[in-house]
Amino acid sequence: MIPHYFDWAATSPMSDRSLDIYVETAKTYRGNPSSLHKDGKDAARFLQQERQKTARLLGASPRQIVYTGGATESNAIVCNSLLWRRSPGRIIISAIEHDSILQYRHLFESKGFDVVFVPAPGGYVTPGDIAEKLTENTNMVCVMLVNNVLGTVQDIKGIAHAIRTFQATTGRPIHFHCDAVQGIGKMTVDVSQLDIDSASFSAHKFQGPRGTGILYQRGETLQPLSRGGGQELGLRAGTEPIAAIAAMNAALEDTLSNLEDRIAHANHLRRVFEQELAPFDTIALVSPSSDGSGGIVPNICTIAAEGIPSEVFTRILFDIGFCVSSGSACSNNTPKKGETLLAACQVSPAKASSAIRVSFGHDTTEDEIKLLAQTIGKESQSMGRLTRRR
Ligand code: PLP
Repeated sequence: MIPHYFDWAATSPMSDRSLDIYVETAKTYRGNPSSLHKDGKDAARFLQQERQKTARLLGASPRQIVYTGGATESNAIVCNSLLWRRSPGRIIISAIEHDSILQYRHLFESKGFDVVFVPAPGGYVTPGDIAEKLTENTNMVCVMLVNNVLGTVQDIKGIAHAIRTFQATTGRPIHFHCDAVQGIGKMTVDVSQLDIDSASFSAHKFQGPRGTGILYQRGETLQPLSRGGGQELGLRAGTEPIAAIAAMNAALEDTLSNLEDRIAHANHLRRVFEQELAPFDTIALVSPSSDGSGGIVPNICTIAAEGIPSEVFTRILFDIGFCVSSGSACSNNTPKKGETLLAACQVSPAKASSAIRVSFGHDTTEDEIKLLAQTIGKESQSMGRLTRRR
């Protein structure tokens, strides 16, 4: 039996078109875009067309698009760039960022930066919370667009406004970085409307290939992470994986061309999921409810069956035929990471230790989500009876 897949926020299956484009491009363009012969020039021309496409789809200009090996690398280029500052200042990071940002804390501190974490009660960082922490020596603010565990959407425009207002009083620029990985295909993302300095994207979150991503950057103040051939505006040296880039663009194009339908479908599935779970008092919603006032993406929903450890419940569900995630799959190698993130959102330790993330995609069906909800409800009841009997 093939398990029902409810772990799209960890990674999504490559779409058929993305796979086809990968193969077609790899076969058609054998040259290295840096080579001077015809095959190289053809590849360079193709790459330029793809860059224009990416830029158009994200609301950027081609010079602002840097292809990377994924969002971890995009985040790393931005964070590493800060380390070159002669006089380290303050770095403000939301406490619910992905580990690829949070783990820079010690490096920043070892270089003399003052790292300040902003908590996110209920999963939200507010412009006011950020404004309170801004100082004249602030170098960077990092707030993600959509949290990968709770699905909460952050007020990036509001935060940018707070930063720019403060910046105007000091005349010193503050780099605003946004990890936008979980937003693509779930909401409109137009970088030109966000007033951010950089943003990270990852192809495998929207049915493109793994190991491919985008760094949007404006202002060109960043430093290279890798050095060599000077590719990607000199920020990411290394031969460009044009087949993967074309496959990513195909996936991006498909996702965005059906965006409204996809959002409507996801909203419907989310409501069904919550309705089906409602009769089970053994299950609590950890993510904000879909009828609440805070912004959420519908396709990520974390729930908790208190008293049943996440890892145990995840395993039980897998044995029955469902792939879900205990907290965030991206952090499963870091013990308790999911729990730390949820603590920053003021989720109780009991709920955090039993949190399960359900995330779905555009081809998930209503029957599948009903079956998952029923199974979660019934299993939590029988597990609850067992633990009470001990
Ligand atoms: N940022 C967020 C919010 C994520 O959910 C992930 C997921 O893994 C990443 C960054 C890392 O992305 P990648 O796997 O492309 O390195």
